Amino acid sequence: MNERNTFIVRVGEVALKGQNKPYFEKTLVDRIRRLLKKYQGVEVTRHEGLIFVYADKDIPEDTIISEIRKVFGVASISPAVSTEPNMEAIGKAAVDYMMNLIEKKGVKTFKVDAKRADKNFPIKSPDIARQVGASVLKGCKVLKVDVHEPDVYLFVDVRSDVAYLYQQKIAGFGGLPLGTNGKGLVLLSGGIDSPVAAWMMAKRGMQIEAVHFHSYPYTSERAQAKVEELAGILAIYCSRFKMHVINMLPIQEQIARNCPQEEMTIQLRRFMMRTAEKIARKYSCDMLITGESLGQVASQTSDSLVVTDASVSIPVMRPLIAMDKSEIIDVARDIGTYEKSIEPYEDCCTVFLPRHPLTKPRLDRIEKSESALDVQALVDAAVESEEIIDIYPA
Ligand code: ATP
Ligand code: MG
Repeated sequence: MNERNTFIVRVGEVALKGQNKPYFEKTLVDRIRRLLKKYQGVEVTRHEGLIFVYADKDIPEDTIISEIRKVFGVASISPAVSTEPNMEAIGKAAVDYMMNLIEKKGVKTFKVDAKRADKNFPIKSPDIARQVGASVLKGCKVLKVDVHEPDVYLFVDVRSDVAYLYQQKIAGFGGLPLGTNGKGLVLLSGGIDSPVAAWMMAKRGMQIEAVHFHSYPYTSERAQAKVEELAGILAIYCSRFKMHVINMLPIQEQIARNCPQEEMTIQLRRFMMRTAEKIARKYSCDMLITGESLGQVASQTSDSLVVTDASVSIPVMRPLIAMDKSEIIDVARDIGTYEKSIEPYEDCCTVFLPRHPLTKPRLDRIEKSESALDVQALVDAAVESEEIIDIYPA
């Protein structure tokens, strides 16, 4: 029965969705199918609240697991073996299963944890566990039961037409299936924070597009290539998306010429937000997403965020707002963006950087110096200069 590998995929919050549950589950299954399409001999099905992936033995187990882990909404994954749902077959399969673990991992102790999804099955869960345990002890003489700290748990899941045995629950990222919650425009720099912010919103089901600002020729082509590569890593999770690329240099030159030096950063941030808002409306994005975290730098103090926010009327999501840098780095490492983010390239924010940026800007003063600029014309021209790049999964 097992010339194919079987994987049990559990959904997280999707299971709580009530009436919308079929829609969420279908979206999730579609996404798993799409990611596994590149492999021959894979089948994805939905059955009794679980998702099952069957894959030819030629495809390494880890490959399938790492593909499934990219799908938001997946709570956990278990490589499993299947057998007929009767005690004799289950006992025999359990012995084979444990023999394999003794050989490969030197397992010495185990504990059986059984459940029956099929309540018509004549034996109750604790008795299934006991009987399977007895079969294993008889068939694998080197093994002992340890109910407190076993080397492995042997899980037995008995269903109406099949029984599964497995020992691991590999955690997925959870969240909700991609595309079930609107579309956001992430302001994507080449740094550590903004890719994590985009990923976190996508994890809640939001489709994303990105806008990246550069100051060419002050920032290099290589710096932009790095951002494209970073976006490619995001696309592994978020599917293919568009990145809108804008040259901010004309705006930066106007700010530098007309506004006090210490206002440079906060003024630029307001222009970035306005430009992003215009792009968002043009491409039907519901909100902006930034990688700002409270107090991380001068432009992210409470006062600075208030002044930044006052420049736009579109909602601005800041999923990292209450996270420490070390927590953000942990996520960046886990999702695979960290190594790319720390490659040293210049960002447009660091061109014309004031020596002492304001940490407590006042909106009235900022607006007063800004009145020397033709804000609307500058934003329109920036949006006009937009270049669109299609980002594909790395
Ligand atoms: P990151 O690590 O994401 O670069 P940061 O800590 O360097 O963030 P800032 O440079 O102040 O912080 O930027 C704050 C946010 O503004 C970023 O997280 C990002 O959302 C946006 N941002 C900054 N620079 C750019 C850029 N060149 N293009 C697009 N968005 C940007
Ligand atoms: Mg940055």
